[in-house]
Amino acid sequence: MRRTNLNTPFSNLTNFLSNPAITQCPLTGCLYLEGATKRPCISFHGVSTPVYRVMAEATIRELCTTDVVRHKCDNGFCFNPDHLELGNIRENNKDRGNFSPN
Ligand SMILES: [Zn+2]
Repeated sequence: MRRTNLNTPFSNLTNFLSNPAITQCPLTGCLYLEGATKRPCISFHGVSTPVYRVMAEATIRELCTTDVVRHKCDNGFCFNPDHLELGNIRENNKDRGNFSPN
């Protein structure tokens, strides 16, 4: 029996990125899912995981549970890899304090 091994850890991310509702803001460059009311999640290693976190894992490095993915753009819905960076909880909380609400 042949084994099919076409599934990579990021195949769900690839599928997600083909969604025609994905939009890029012309002003900020943020990538987001049009009409989403909460952060989109996909299955990653069998666990529902925010898309931005899977994107960080695909483009930065494998994440550990203590890694926090920070949004340089302060848009929690965004999954543009250029807008993501890794940090820790303390840094993430400090980010929130530095941004003023719109
Ligand atoms: Zn962004």
